[in-house]
Amino acid sequence: MNTIYQSNSGCTSTMKSRDLCFPAFLVSQFVDSLLVAKFILIGSGLAGGLLAAYLGRRGYDVDLYERRADPREGNIVGGRSINLAISTRGIHALEQIGIADEALQYAIPMRGRMIHDKSGALHFTPYDVDPKNCINSIGRAALNTTVIEAAQRYPNVRVHFNHKCTEVDLNSPVAHLETVNGAVTARGDAVIGVDGAFSAVRKSMQREIANFQYDESYLAHGYKELTLPPGPDGSWRMEKNALHIWPRKSFMMIALPNPDGSFTCTLFWEFEGPRSFATTQTKEDVRQFFDEEFPDALPLMPTLLEDFRNNPTGSLVTIRCAPWYYHDKICLLGDAAHAVVPFYGQGMNAAFEDCVVLDECLEKFHDNRQRAFAEYFSRRKENADALADLAIGNFVEMRDKTASRAFRAKKRLDHFLEGALPGIYLPLYTMVTFTRIPYADAARRARGQDHIVYGILICLPVFLIALLLFRLIIH
Ligand SMILES: Cc1cc2nc3c(=O)[nH]c(=O)nc-3n(C[C@H](O)[C@H](O)[C@H](O)COP(=O)(O)OP(=O)(O)OC[C@H]3O[C@@H](n4cnc5c(N)ncnc54)[C@H](O)[C@@H]3O)c2cc1C
Repeated sequence: MNTIYQSNSGCTSTMKSRDLCFPAFLVSQFVDSLLVAKFILIGSGLAGGLLAAYLGRRGYDVDLYERRADPREGNIVGGRSINLAISTRGIHALEQIGIADEALQYAIPMRGRMIHDKSGALHFTPYDVDPKNCINSIGRAALNTTVIEAAQRYPNVRVHFNHKCTEVDLNSPVAHLETVNGAVTARGDAVIGVDGAFSAVRKSMQREIANFQYDESYLAHGYKELTLPPGPDGSWRMEKNALHIWPRKSFMMIALPNPDGSFTCTLFWEFEGPRSFATTQTKEDVRQFFDEEFPDALPLMPTLLEDFRNNPTGSLVTIRCAPWYYHDKICLLGDAAHAVVPFYGQGMNAAFEDCVVLDECLEKFHDNRQRAFAEYFSRRKENADALADLAIGNFVEMRDKTASRAFRAKKRLDHFLEGALPGIYLPLYTMVTFTRIPYADAARRARGQDHIVYGILICLPVFLIALLLFRLIIH
């Protein structure tokens, strides 16, 4: 079978630019501007579904192609995190399309970090001075279904599962797709790659666009998901409204609550090394490692040995590329444009924020898609780069610094200053997680605040000693 999904305008860009004589070309452009543009979206993950809803609401004709089966038919997770933390930016994007309540109905608020030290002692640090500011644990599968269903409510949006994009002709633009029935092609006015960190759309751009910038870097750490099941009465066996962290300097484990009373734990650990995924092979190795490092969690994890053996070990990649668009024909969004490591809990939040910004740009430049794509890229690129740096920095903070008294003292100072100087002093975590201040601005402002605060902390004792000496001398 070889189907061609035609552009609504019914003509290719080659026809428009070359085959028509001058007045006919102008007429064609005028008619085109009156017709509805057709978007081909590749990837119906978290951002793909939401973007389809935004484009559908704007009246565009949308075909969304996903390589996997319909998530409503079963497992979509495929080794990815089972739950995620959604915060202000992500929630705002859901609110704008009217699905926040629906998406968040089963989400579990997490009000702070619960640090588990090696002795099993617990230390709770709230995320913010305002107790209303919390992050929310939400199931990936349920959220994915919610955004896809939101998109499908628009009659001009069609979703096609089991369609894997193999490559894209950038100039047509045409997406080539594999299905169980053979190859098909999808033609539109623009193709948007929302196909995640290993994007096929981006690979086509890498091949075709001269000077396309691309950089990928992997952490030496991988991750493995493990389960901490509910208690016999279906209740949570640790504090439900917290993100649990077992910081162990060079590695760590975290746990997020699920609505069924379980927690999904994620172990972030070196792939290689004397103590690592590579050297921990037997059941005895695993049991001994958990007994030494996570003694309070071990008795709560009856399926640990099976989970450890059966669950995949994922890698953690940061991807930076530029540009994120090609003329008015191709655009990248979400992880396809900027995959980040998960330690700030912002990858999906940022991808959802991309949808809001692209929608705003398409509204502003409704008659010039290339300018819309260019403005979207210029508004997001610096912020995606800043988030990538923040996410790597937060790995060190979570696995190492959260265990220290100095870290907890700094958090208390942050909260004191935030309370004492409302609207003037905002901790970095608060800006990133509980505001929509662009990531790059948040990072710059936090650096400035730190210089002032640390400057005062260093100068204050000197000033007090000088004052004391002065008073002693004049007496
Ligand atoms: C362990 C872990 C924990 C995380 N925790 C958080 C968190 O707490 N908070 C947060 O905000 N973010 C978190 N993230 C990041 C978050 O998962 C991503 O940023 C988010 O999923 C990006 O959404 P996306 O739609 O761009 O990509 P994806 O969710 O990866 O979706 C891409 C979709 O495209 C499809 N696809 C891929 N290739 C093709 C193809 N060739 N043809 C057709 N379809 C294709 C895929 O099947 C998939 O459905 C975490 C990530 C990891 C790995």
